[in-house]
Order: sequence, then structure tokens, then C-alpha cells
Amino acid sequence: MSKAVEEQASLEQQAVKDEAYMRQAMALAAEAESRGEVPVGALLVKDDKVIATGFNLSICRHDASAHAEMECIRAAGQAVENYRLLDTTLYVTLEPCAMCAGAMVHARIARLVYGAADLKTGAAGSVVDLVRSRAFNHQLTVTSGVLAEECGEQLSAFFRRRRQEKKALKMAEKKQGQ
Ligand SMILES: [Zn+2]
Repeated sequence: MSKAVEEQASLEQQAVKDEAYMRQAMALAAEAESRGEVPVGALLVKDDKVIATGFNLSICRHDASAHAEMECIRAAGQAVENYRLLDTTLYVTLEPCAMCAGAMVHARIARLVYGAADLKTGAAGSVVDLVRSRAFNHQLTVTSGVLAEECGEQLSAFFRRRRQEKKALKMAEKKQGQ
């Protein structure tokens, strides 16, 4: 095989792996949703092995820092007994916020793969880019838009359902008031 063909093959292989891991992250997001949380899921991979997982638990934990990525980074630190998570890739269904992007830089995570972009709070390129900023002493490589539509739909379906539930509740209250 020529070098170019080899490189192309390995890129394609990586893309297949990225999608498979993103599906696992989506399953974790569903886990969050089943607890009434905004569905975001994350996992950390090292040497083709999942070393930690996490999903959003902010409401259950009364903790603004309990985002999927933070849960995942905390679990990974315990698993490898090191706060530095060298040579790892973090997969998450939604573009990380500033807090999570900052934690990824501190943890020296090598690569970030995310699904849907977050145009309101995304800190990996959408609103601001903290993971590739030369102002810090560590940068991640970023692959965005893996299963973006499916990840985005998982979130919008959740918010649609929640709006409907709120509406139904309001109508029920009105009825009771009559
Ligand atoms: Zn976050």
C-alpha cells in the first residue's frame, strides 16, 4: 500500500471508531434523560479502551459542575489514579462548555470528539475556543460533528417533550382552578 492509501485507510478506520464511541456516549446521554436530566453523555478512551464514562447529573446532584464531561474526567482520574489523563480521547454528545473545556486542558486530554455544536455556550469553537487556545500550555486536537444530527435531535426531542409537559401541567392547573 502506498503511504497516502495507508493514511486514508487509517483515517477511515478512525472515523468508524469515532461513530461507535459516539453511539456509546448517546446511550449514556439517554441514561441522564431517564433521570430527568438534560441528555448529555461522555466517555474517555485510551488505547482503544473505554476507561471512564459520565452523564449529566446537575439536577440530581444539585451541582452545576456535574456535567457529563466532568463526571467522566473525575471517574477517569480515579481509574488511572492520576489527574493527568495523557493520550486519551474524550467523546461527548454536545460541544463542551467553558468549565469542561478548561478541565480538559488541565487534564491534558489529547483529543476531543463531540457531536452537536452548542451555539450558546460551546467552548470548543462555537462561542469561544478554549481547547485550542495558544494562550494555554496545552491544546487538544478536535473532531466536531460526529453524529451531530442524531446527538442534536436527542437534545431537541428532550426539550420539546419538556415544553409539552410544562404546557400540559399548566393546563391541568388552570382546569383545577376553575
Ligand atoms: Zn460543561
